[in-house]
Amino acid sequence: MQVMTPQKVALVTGITGQDGKHLSTFLHDKGYLVYGFIRGQNNPRRAELEASHPFVKMIEGDLTDPTSIVQALEVANPDEVYNLGAISHVGYSFKNPSLTAEVTGKGVLNVLESVRITGRAEKTRIYQASTSEMFGGLDYNRPGTGYNEDSLFHPRSPYGVAKLYGHWTAKNYRESYGMFVSCGILFNHEGEHRGVEFVTRKITHAVARIKYGLQEYVELGDLWPKRDWGYAGDFVKGMWLMLQHTEPDDFVLATGETHSIEDFLALAFAEIGESDWRPYVRQNPAFMRPAEVDILLGDPSKAERVLGWHREVDFPTLVSRMVQHDLARVGVATEASRG
Ligand code: GDP
Repeated sequence: MQVMTPQKVALVTGITGQDGKHLSTFLHDKGYLVYGFIRGQNNPRRAELEASHPFVKMIEGDLTDPTSIVQALEVANPDEVYNLGAISHVGYSFKNPSLTAEVTGKGVLNVLESVRITGRAEKTRIYQASTSEMFGGLDYNRPGTGYNEDSLFHPRSPYGVAKLYGHWTAKNYRESYGMFVSCGILFNHEGEHRGVEFVTRKITHAVARIKYGLQEYVELGDLWPKRDWGYAGDFVKGMWLMLQHTEPDDFVLATGETHSIEDFLALAFAEIGESDWRPYVRQNPAFMRPAEVDILLGDPSKAERVLGWHREVDFPTLVSRMVQHDLARVGVATEASRG
């Protein structure tokens, strides 16, 4: 007689964000029933997600409202919760620091406490989306091989500070209540679902529009900062692997390479045959930050060793893929408007 294993259930917060889209597809392909926790009445992003990810079951709620999280847990009764929901943009967090603290920081406490008080502490595994922004990129704090799970934290933005609160709260629930809570300390990860408020997608979107004659240049802030940029599709696999491991723990996911925004510009413009990006870029102080993280470089060796995780997409492939995606998208829209 064939023994059927019950279908696994996941509840994903931040479902309309970049990682929510990649992760829900990944989990669906693995046979999970995926619930998405979605904010706000008539959230305009809901229709878009329902069209692109029709298999996701939506539950309305808000990370700042614990009652709504409890209700979502009761509807979904998940085996795994992925807490990806956050005010996730560093620049925006300087403009809305209090909201960032509520959602990105205290929202983590609300999720953990809701799991605990509904009697799910033993059944439900939780992934907390921690971030390389907790390290802050300061020189004294940077080992030559990149940040690892033991590096010092020194966040340099309201976003980084709020995420660090969430990170320590997650560890505290692991230690205090024995809950299976794993934190992924993820370095920047990009792709076709990245929002245009982030520098990579802002550039690739602009490159496509420049190619089609829809704009002449792109306005950016500082171009010297360096980031360890990977592909989001690779990183969501790492999130899932963390929850399949025998023990809850913290893991850095990164590529182990760092590149400046100028490096990104050079590859992105080369993709449309332009060997010099400078004529197409103007600097605007409006896009500079009160405090900048100069360089981020991660050391993913623990995740590679313990989880068997490896990134597949390298930096040139990432840039090329994003530009080609935007060229296709802008091209279709331009053809349609020219009728
Ligand atoms: P972050 O690393 O999470 O802050 O990701 P972002 O993509 O928002 O920013 C990456 C880097 O690009 C930071 O050092 C920003 O200061 C820098 N940057 C330069 N110009 C821009 C811009 O126009 N928009 C954004 N978002 N970042 C910019």
